[in-house]
Amino acid sequence: MHELMIIGAGPAGLAAAVYAARKRLKALLVSGDIGGQVNQTLGIENYLGYQFIEGAELIAKFESQVSQFPIDQKIGTRISRLGEITDGFEAISETGDGFQARVVLFATGKRPKKLGVSGEAEFAGKGVSYCAICDGPVFAGQRVAIVGGGNSAVGAALDMVRIAEHVDLVSLTPLTADIILIEKLVEASNVSVYAQYQTEKIYGNAFVSGIVIKGLVTGEEKRLDASGVFIEIGLAPNSEPVKDLIELNKWGEVPVSCANETTMPGLYAAGDVTDVPEKQIIVAAGEGAKAVLQAHRYLQQLAK
Ligand SMILES: Cc1cc2nc3c(=O)[nH]c(=O)nc-3n(C[C@H](O)[C@H](O)[C@H](O)COP(=O)(O)OP(=O)(O)OC[C@H]3O[C@@H](n4cnc5c(N)ncnc54)[C@H](O)[C@@H]3O)c2cc1C
Repeated sequence: MHELMIIGAGPAGLAAAVYAARKRLKALLVSGDIGGQVNQTLGIENYLGYQFIEGAELIAKFESQVSQFPIDQKIGTRISRLGEITDGFEAISETGDGFQARVVLFATGKRPKKLGVSGEAEFAGKGVSYCAICDGPVFAGQRVAIVGGGNSAVGAALDMVRIAEHVDLVSLTPLTADIILIEKLVEASNVSVYAQYQTEKIYGNAFVSGIVIKGLVTGEEKRLDASGVFIEIGLAPNSEPVKDLIELNKWGEVPVSCANETTMPGLYAAGDVTDVPEKQIIVAAGEGAKAVLQAHRYLQQLAK
């Protein structure tokens, strides 16, 4: 049995791994991937020490720092359920493997929300994307639609007006993005904004060829040609593995104390999956570090 299991290898889990190693904890890092959301980030300008760094480069630096330490790693392993056992916890992977530890740091971050319309699942990876930053260049010179009205959607539209022939931005509500982003967007000549329009369906043959939208005020239905549809309607926490173990907040986030304790002794959480308000790399990394220091104190008390 490991002393500490860290679930998730985004900034929170990777920072936690460094702190765990420096406390000489027998630790296991289990994660679906290395880097989490940072893999979807083209450029970062707000991580201390770098005026600008690409997401992939920052993750490579994190990974190389972690790999200097004797931390057991199971990367490419997704946990479906975490349960209590005598003296600790057991995490069960999607393929049925079990991993045990005295204490757990849950740092599984967030994932893009689904729209829930017809055609979305069918055309995922065939024109439907949840990351304009990652997949945008594939649609160079083509017509695309972006669904959403917040900062991520308008930010994606700003990226795509430089790449695509035309961008249709479809938002269920009036745009809620920062005014500075909206002002920049309306300067573009190749964008149409459909605010207060519901996306009804995504259609196509082998690949996406368009979407159907309906005006909430006018009731009017429109078909918009699109080779790519980017769904940018926010993120949902990856908290399913602990949903039967602890009470989540109304957004599905894991509530934590300022020392990263959950309501269950021995279970800690850090980063975007928690109710800590700011979802940023530097915050997640700091929270991961704090969580391990608290977990280490708890393990020392157990040993007394
Ligand atoms: C497009 C985009 C741009 C961004 N730009 C910036 C920026 O410029 N600056 C900034 O500070 N922040 C930015 N952010 C936010 C930042 O990326 C996140 O706040 C940060 O990555 C959160 O770190 P985390 O470790 O909590 O979670 P994540 O990065 O989400 O990592 C979670 C980890 O958990 C793993 N995982 C998830 N579920 C399971 C499971 N069931 N079993 C095992 N492993 C699991 C994942 O594989 C991943 O490794 C951006 C985010 C996005 C999406």
